[in-house]
Parts: sequence; C-alpha cells; structure tokens
Amino acid sequence: MTAMHPKRPTEIFGLFAATTVLPGVGPKLAGILEKRVGAHVIDLLRHLPVGLIDRRARPALDDVVDGSIATFEVLVVKHDRPPPGTRRPWRVIAENETGRLEIIFFHARDDYVARALPAGERRIVSGRVEIRQGRAQMAHPDHIVDPDNSAEMPLIEPVYPLTAGLTPKMLRRAIDGALTRLPDLREWIPNTVMSERNWPDFATAMRDVHHPRTADDLLPQTPMRSRLAFDELLANQLALALVRHAAAEAMPGRRFGGTGALTAALLDSLPFTLTGAQQRAIEEIRADQQADTRMLRMLQGDVGSGKTLVALFAMLHAVETGAQAALLAPTEILARQHHVTINAFLAPLGMQARLLLGQGRGGARGGARKAVINELADGTAQIVIGTHALISEGVSYHDLGLAVVDEQHRFGVRQRILLGQKGHGVDVIVMTATPIPRSLAMTAYGDLNQSRLDEKPAGRLPIDTRALPLDRLADVVNRLRAALAGGRRAYWICPLVEESEKIDVAAAEDRHAALSQALPDIDVALAHGKMKTADRDDAMQRFRSGAAQLLVATTVVEVGVDVPEASVIIIEHAERFGLAQLHQLRGRVGRSDTASSCLLLYQGPLSETATARLDVMRETNDGFVIAERDLELRGPGEFLGQRQSGVPEFILADLAAHQDLLALAREVARDMIGPDNQPVDRAQCDLLLSLFERDSAVRFLASG
Ligand code: ADP
Ligand code: MG
Repeated sequence: MTAMHPKRPTEIFGLFAATTVLPGVGPKLAGILEKRVGAHVIDLLRHLPVGLIDRRARPALDDVVDGSIATFEVLVVKHDRPPPGTRRPWRVIAENETGRLEIIFFHARDDYVARALPAGERRIVSGRVEIRQGRAQMAHPDHIVDPDNSAEMPLIEPVYPLTAGLTPKMLRRAIDGALTRLPDLREWIPNTVMSERNWPDFATAMRDVHHPRTADDLLPQTPMRSRLAFDELLANQLALALVRHAAAEAMPGRRFGGTGALTAALLDSLPFTLTGAQQRAIEEIRADQQADTRMLRMLQGDVGSGKTLVALFAMLHAVETGAQAALLAPTEILARQHHVTINAFLAPLGMQARLLLGQGRGGARGGARKAVINELADGTAQIVIGTHALISEGVSYHDLGLAVVDEQHRFGVRQRILLGQKGHGVDVIVMTATPIPRSLAMTAYGDLNQSRLDEKPAGRLPIDTRALPLDRLADVVNRLRAALAGGRRAYWICPLVEESEKIDVAAAEDRHAALSQALPDIDVALAHGKMKTADRDDAMQRFRSGAAQLLVATTVVEVGVDVPEASVIIIEHAERFGLAQLHQLRGRVGRSDTASSCLLLYQGPLSETATARLDVMRETNDGFVIAERDLELRGPGEFLGQRQSGVPEFILADLAAHQDLLALAREVARDMIGPDNQPVDRAQCDLLLSLFERDSAVRFLASG
C-alpha cells in the first residue's frame, strides 16, 4: 500500500521549510508565528486576510474625515520632543499646501521618530487620521516612506489575524516572502471543473487571495477562494476514500441474508405505522447487511424520531441470520431505558433482550451478570443491551453480527476497533441524536454512510418555545405553579460550565431549595453530576414515576433521558448553552401527544450570537435546520465540541460557505481513485495529500 505512505514530493519541499528561511523571520519571530500561524512556509500561505485597508484616499488636510484611513505627502516642519521622564507624547508638526498635520508618538523609542521623519524633508505618511480641536492628527502612522520610494507603501493592504508580538508589517513581509516560494504545480483539478468555475491555478489563487483589491475579494465565493477551499476539501475526501478502501480490505465484511421472519413479526405487532424516513433507513441498513462488505453506518435523527426502533429492525435481521446483536449505550441510565423500550417491542414476539452493565454497579450483579455473560458466549442470548461492559475483556460472543452504538460522540475509534474484535465481519450502526449538517458529516465521517430520520412520527406537536429575561423569574414560577397544579411534569435545567462545576452545582442546589420553598405542595427532585449515583438514580426514578413533578437538574439530563409525561422545560441561563445543547435539552419534552413548552430564561444583555441562537430555537423544531444554523454561527471547529470528535480542521474551506463544493470534491476524489482502489495518478495524489497534510491522517487512520 505505498499509496498510503506518500513521500513529500520534492517540488513542495520549499513550502514545508521552517519559516526562518523567509526574509525578516528570525528564531524569535518564528516562535511567535508558530503559535498563531504555523511553523512552515505553507502555513503562512494558508493564513488568509480577513479584511483590507484602502490607503488610496489622499484628502486635503483641511478636509479630512475624522477616523478615516488616509495618506498624505507632507513636509516635516519641526519636532516637539518630550523631555526625558515625562509621559507627554512626541509631536511632529508637518504640513503641505492643503493644511497642517500633527503626527503623534506615545512612548517613542530613542531617536526612531527623528530618523523616520527628519525635519525639513518630505515624507508620505499613511494611517488613521483624527480631528482634535479642529486639527488633523495622526497617531503612530502605519507607514512612513520617502516620496522617492513611494512604491514601498501598499495602497491596498490586506489585514490578517495577528497575535501579541506580531505586527502587520512583519507578517506581510513574511507572507510576501512565502509567496515567492510558490512553485507552479501540475494541475490536479479536472479541466472541465476549472473552466466551468473559472478557477485560477493553485499558485495564482494563492497570490491573489493575499492581494485583495476590493472588499468583495475577501468573500468565500470568489473563484480564488473557492478554488483553494476546494483543494482542501478534495484532499480530505481523497484521504477518506483511500482510508475507506484500506479499511474495507483490512476488515472484510460478511453477508447477513435475513429470513424476514422476525422483522415482519415486529412490523405486524407495532401499534403505529413507520414514518417514511424510518422505512428508508431500515431499507438502507438492510441493504448494507445483505452486502458482502462490512456496514459502517450512521443513523442520525432528532430525539423522538424513532431511531431505537430502526435499530431494532436491524438487530432482528442479524438474529434471523443466526447472529447476535448488541446495543451499546453511553450510560447505565440509557442502557436501562433502551432495555425497557426494546423489551416492550420484543414481548409480542416472545423474545427478551439481556442487560449487561459494569461489574458491581447495579443491573445484573454477581450470579445474574455471570449468567448473561455465559449466554452471550454460548449464543442463547441473541440481543444484549449494555454499557462499555459489552466490549470489556471478559465478555465474548458466540457470534456477534451487529453492534449498534448509541451516541456517537462518546465512542471513539478505539471502541470501534474493539467491537470489530468481538466477532467477525461485525456490522456497526452508530446512532446519534445530534443532527449533523451534511457538510460536516461528509467531511468528518466520510467513512460512514448516513441514514437520516428527518421526519417525526405522526401526531407529534411542535414544542412551543419562548425566551424571557431572568428578571421575570417570579412570573415564571407562578406559571410553573399553575402548570404543575394542572398535573404537568417539568424540568428545570441549570447550566453547567465545566471550569466551575462546584459553583454550578451550588447554583442548582440553591435553585432546588428556592423552588422547593416556592412550591411547598410539590416534591421537587434534584439531579446533578456531583451526587452519589444512587441518589441521582433515586431522583430520576421519583420524577419518572411522577412522585416528583419537578426535576431541577444540571445537564445530566441532556442525553436521552426519556420521561414522556414531562411536558415543560425551563432552561436557566439559556444564553450559556450552545444551539445543539439547547436542542437536546428541549428534546426532553414533546415526547407524547400532550402539547409541550420550553422556556429559555436568559440573562441580558445578549451577545449577537446568543440572540441569534435563541431566535433559531424559537423559530424551528427541526434538528437538521438547527444544526445547519449552528454550523454557521459557530464554525465547524466548535460544532461538535471538541477535537476528538473527528472533525478535521479546515483552514481554507469554510464548511458553511463552501457546502456546495463538498459533493463535487467527493465526486472528483472518487474519480482520482481507480477500480483497483489505487490512485489513478499516484504522483498527483501524493502531491495533493502532502500539500494539505492529509498524508499523516491517512497513515494514522490506515493503521487504525
Ligand atoms: P429516538 O431514539 O430517536 O429519540 P425513540 O426511538 O426513543 O426516538 O422514539 C421515541 C418514541 O416514539 C418511542 O416511544 C417510540 O416507541 C415511538 N415511535 C417510534 N417510531 C414511531 C412511529 N413511527 N410512530 C409513532 N411512534 C413512534
Ligand atoms: Mg455485510
């Protein structure tokens, strides 16, 4: 598999040199650059401008616009140098035929000012000009040049993200140096695409993005920016495709034919009809199971979209074929819940799923636990539900054929591999209740096929969502009292910010105490992450049974807790939550045919993003729409919370703005790989993967 270990092609060596090869970059600046931009020449090229300064305006000095950027050619008249030890600024008086300009320097170093602006000489100065007491003033000009060298001053200057110790001038010089090292590379984008989109070649695109002429040149849709974004997406898709093929070779799959007996019986026994989306997902999964290759499929759907049932169809299909199926949940609470739900569906079929939890912690303990383990080993247990215990060392299977993993984000690559070792040709379905925008799914999980449940079971009512400032708390409590008196069950969510869990827990305890006092007739339960498991389980249990009508909780209820009778959720400090989290939390209600409501309590003043988030929540209940908006508001890096979520970092591509390029990148990547799963043009593939540093990703993924 030499294709998986591309060596860096020689023509791009120069781009991967340390930044110290560039003029003006010494070890100190290189250190600063490394923190903000990167260690190599290529990193500077990928550091794109975010704005521009237009210095072309040369107004008359008696006619300047306060606060504008302007350029003047002036004669330096005199210096008013501050006496040593004073805090006065250094003033330079300059003039031309249109008026006077006072140039000011604070904390001027030595004779820098005297040298830069020699009295009696003409200089061009450019910077922000202000009007003070009717006089034109410029503090710390951005540029001071001799009129003989006026070309040294850029008339339109790109603005880059900076960091402490890095001035625009230092960075521009380094980037200009980097641009001179750009080689002309053999084109990897097909001609048809290039001409259709009017894209420049890589080197031209790079040079042009660093020399914007107008504000429009900074937009992601320009041909130059699109081209570079496409290159990055293409490299990523190419890496994913190669990994996928390598993985398919390394882990051969198996055909699960199915007899249809159990799945048909399940379908018959359902008290409702499947949604169209469920039917499609069940079909997609069945087709994967019946294929010779190993299934790796992500099943995405909002809370309540009926994923568990879809998964159960797949499990029964595996069982029909004589294999076993396992469902892995991230927590014991969820494992128990799935166990109850699934057994309810299985009862009419005369079947029962087993439950396996960690040793000594609830569930089947000691002898009972041992019995489940034995049944898994001898094959009498056909369906098992549990936590990580299911993939622990002491657990082996007679013939595991399907693993369903609930909640993608808490399961890593390692667990997937462990799963693979529990059987042969084990199919995997990853279920996630966090709808993921198509673009992210395609880039982060390109190796997983997707099934989306984008349709709610009939009869589900949208959740009435409102936002209220926290100072209306008294009203809120009154309304809550009325709702509880009417027999409703409600969640009250307190925020949990990781850095200060103690404070947050204290806040939840305080809220619990305050609400208990305000609602003396109500049993108010409390659940948070710092409680003993037994106490928390007890609180949850009281809420589930209805003994407690109100549950004050931190985000421990976020994932999957299912109490269909709950129909009110109040989220305190909603402005501190991300969209995905708000949506997850809101999904705790609206799980029955009772109309539900969600109240977002916020502390003003709200930032623009927080306002936008609350607006999105009020406007829609559709998780996929929310996910797309979330991506726009947050950017992909933050979208899934953390790096290990597997989202590759994109520097040139903006997943929200360049979504349309993704499908194209996928197509082109496919064309770059031949029928033997080897690159059609190996040198070209190596070049692209190396240029975008996907070579190491490929190696890492390939080694599993
Ligand atoms: P998810 O796991 O996607 O959050 P669940 O699988 O828990 O959703 O389904 C939520 C509820 O909806 C469950 O009580 C389930 O039995 C029920 N349900 C599933 N599919 C349908 C359907 N097609 N019509 C009506 N109810 C359904
Ligand atoms: Mg298969």
